Amino acid sequence: MAKNYIKLDGTVCKGCRVCVEACPKQCIVISSEINKMGYQFAKFENPNCIGCGICFYVCPEPGTITVYKDEEEKK
Ligand code: SF4
Ligand code: SF4
Repeated sequence: MAKNYIKLDGTVCKGCRVCVEACPKQCIVISSEINKMGYQFAKFENPNCIGCGICFYVCPEPGTITVYKDEEEKK
């Protein structure tokens, strides 16, 4: 089980893809599903997450991404 991971709330994501482009480990993909706001939302899929937090810092939607590094919640 991966020790570093993110939680990404697909219900508030606006599908801007900034996190997809920014992740150095290609951990985030855009879903083919559409959320209730009509956006194709981002999903965390890749086990290679290093917990760097870049996705958290670049996401323009507050609270969408939470990063867990070494299984500890990080801001
Ligand atoms: S914490 Fe870093 S490696 Fe993990 S999903 Fe976010 S940008 Fe990618
Ligand atoms: S940067 Fe935020 S709003 Fe944009 S696709 Fe990623 S999680 Fe969604």
